[in-house]
Amino acid sequence: MPQSKSATFLIAGLFFAGVTWPLFVRHDLFLGLFPAYGLLFFWCERGGQPESALLFLVLATGVGAFLARGARAAGGAGLEVAGLWLLSWAISESRRSLAREEASLAFEADADLKEIKEAERGLDYYRSRQREASARIRLRRDMAESAKTLGRCLSREDVYRKLAEILGERFPGSAVEFPVEEGSDPFLRLAASSRRPLFIADAQADERLRGAAGQIRSAMLLPLRVSREPAGFIKISSPKPSAFTEAELKGADLMATLAGLSLENIVLYERVRSQAVHDALTQLFSRKAFDERLHEEVLRAGRARLPLSLVMIDIDHFKSYNDRYGHQAGDELLKRVSAVLFKHIREVDMAARYGGEEFCLLLPSLPYADAYALAESVRQAVSREVFVFRGEATRVTVSLGVATFPEDAATGSQFVRAADERLYRAKRAGRNRTEGR
Ligand code: GH3
Ligand code: MG
Ligand code: MG
Repeated sequence: MPQSKSATFLIAGLFFAGVTWPLFVRHDLFLGLFPAYGLLFFWCERGGQPESALLFLVLATGVGAFLARGARAAGGAGLEVAGLWLLSWAISESRRSLAREEASLAFEADADLKEIKEAERGLDYYRSRQREASARIRLRRDMAESAKTLGRCLSREDVYRKLAEILGERFPGSAVEFPVEEGSDPFLRLAASSRRPLFIADAQADERLRGAAGQIRSAMLLPLRVSREPAGFIKISSPKPSAFTEAELKGADLMATLAGLSLENIVLYERVRSQAVHDALTQLFSRKAFDERLHEEVLRAGRARLPLSLVMIDIDHFKSYNDRYGHQAGDELLKRVSAVLFKHIREVDMAARYGGEEFCLLLPSLPYADAYALAESVRQAVSREVFVFRGEATRVTVSLGVATFPEDAATGSQFVRAADERLYRAKRAGRNRTEGR
């Protein structure tokens, strides 16, 4: 501080004067008083003014040389002056060595600081690697669990429900939807045009949305694919900006792939199941499905004391039809007759292909008279229908047999036999007929 420096110099000056004045008045005090100048150097060094110390040393030397001139004790005065110089040198030397030590300590501290900073940087790097590694492990574990959960689903609804649960847990506070059609949704339109995962950090600042984002600020859109075909989207959105990260987009996209695979499995499973219960040509129920359902319905009708009717149907002269128009036209006819049958039944009824060109209708809760009327209207509808194949108009007729449980049979097999017998009675009676009781 300049003020304290000048104060140091002023006090040193006063002290110098305070020592010099008695030296000039009392020469005999020289040897005892002269060393007092030494205190000046301590004072100046303490005040951080080595230049002032040197100035006062030169002045004290001058005073010593002047007063010792021709005196008897000139040798002693010379020694005292030399002592003063020695003292001054020792003080400044100790200051310099202190400064050197300080500098070397500062250098060491600096080096240590650098080392600490280096170590901290290293630590930060390893911490971030550790964070990344644990995030990757967490993601893989989540994926494995999600794959297991989704893989266990047995229906599409189940897949979407489980997927909504998983994504809802992963992105709390966000909306999860599974839109199929893009419609007027600007996010879906954008995703549909790119056909790739879409990441919107801030919808308001995103020019592609042209301010049509509504309440949504950030969103992720993942296209769903089933057997390589587009099957809608997963839309995860938040009213907050920057709610998701690019890394989360990758995780969500993996989830979309898993969901696509699960949906594909379900489609295949449904196809196999449907093949087991449906006839591949006519899409009516198979003989196997009919037998199972007949058993259930007979039990139910017995328990509920309700009627259960059965109509057996056989195409007349189908062999000749095949011979005349070809097997392919025969197949087509089986499909079209099936469609006529299907049009005549209720949702609770069952139309099945019993074998070859033989069909049956299982009609729960339908009394005999109604079943007979239904069989008659089927017969008339088939006989009226014109089946056109390769430009040629063809017609066929069917024969039908009607039976009702429990009046006509006590068991399922008796029931089928009763309807079948009546069907053959219709054949014998000239075909294109409905036979009953
Ligand atoms: P009916 O009036 O007495 O019933 O005479 P029909 O010729 O219809 O009866 P038949 O049992 O003699 O012949 C049935 C024919 O149905 C024989 C068979 O080739 C044919 N058929 C069975 N299944 C199919 C099929 O899936 N497609 C085709 N095109 N023909 C079939
Ligand atoms: Mg026939
Ligand atoms: Mg037949």
